Amino acid sequence: MEIRRSVLIIYTGGTIGMVNDPVSGALVPIDFRHISDQVPELRRFGFSLETVTFEPVIDSSEVSPDVWVRIARTIEDNYDRFDGFVVLHGTDTMAYSASALSFMLRGLEKPVIFTGAQLPIGVLRTDGKENLITAIEIAAARENGLPVVPEVCIYFENKLLRGNRTIKYSAEHFNAFVSPNLPPLAEAGLQIRYNRNIIRYPTVRRPLTVSDKFDTAVAVLRLFPGLRQETVHAILGTAGIRGLVLETYGTGNAPTTEWFLDEIQSYIAGGGIVLNVSQCQAGSVEMGLYETSAGLISAGVLSGRDITTEAAVTKMMNLFGSGLPREKICELLSRPLCGEMS
Ligand code: ASP
Repeated sequence: MEIRRSVLIIYTGGTIGMVNDPVSGALVPIDFRHISDQVPELRRFGFSLETVTFEPVIDSSEVSPDVWVRIARTIEDNYDRFDGFVVLHGTDTMAYSASALSFMLRGLEKPVIFTGAQLPIGVLRTDGKENLITAIEIAAARENGLPVVPEVCIYFENKLLRGNRTIKYSAEHFNAFVSPNLPPLAEAGLQIRYNRNIIRYPTVRRPLTVSDKFDTAVAVLRLFPGLRQETVHAILGTAGIRGLVLETYGTGNAPTTEWFLDEIQSYIAGGGIVLNVSQCQAGSVEMGLYETSAGLISAGVLSGRDITTEAAVTKMMNLFGSGLPREKICELLSRPLCGEMS
């Protein structure tokens, strides 16, 4: 006899569960009972579904690392009781949270599926119902007794994407997320078709542990023509900033101006770490391809290859929180830890 599958829904907030505030008219989050009332279909699943609701539920613009720790601890505390987890989360910072969780949950062997909605679940044309129902189905999916997708993912519209490869791309369309450097892990049509040769399966079995320390001493600098030295100097000179995600042009290019390279070089010489991430959504940093990135190599800038800014920021913060020595952090930033870069 097949054992009844079980999924824990962790409701953190976001548009999926929002209603219009009668006074201000703005969208504000409400509690999960509203969602289950709006989706009676949930009762038709043969699965055992339980819910944990964060107190208070939040708009995801309010997310900070302590929310990631609460999500991770909720998963850890319930890890043995459930086949999979669905995290209901606002779309605005979902890519950051899914990236962070991928670095935190070491030894993960069960699905953790983030989803949400562009339109509240009480609205007739909502995308929230389909997102929630399919996310639950994916979280519960097993084959030969093992989970089909033992990864942290984002499910939205009809695609299952690796969480740490994903960016929010549309504030308008139902397909709000893309993962430009990795094909979807699954696509939902009449059936859910899993892309098994892309899904990461554990090679060694180890118990789940949570890496829950974050050091937020990180900055992001997006290059643009006309960027002033004072600005670069002020950011790199901010007290305690240990790492910079440098959003460069194209394949990792930056101006060769002497002052710019000097600023970067002296920041690195002083112990800072600079990770080169492209402003392009698709493709990869290839330092050395053009003369305009050769100076960055000499300055000691690391290549983020095709990592997203969201994954780069959360990976840096998590590694800085780990207490590892600088050399080790540089080595770990230069290679994929859980599928976040090619
Ligand atoms: N502002 C909302 C949030 O991120 C948007 C959404 O959920 O789609 O919480």
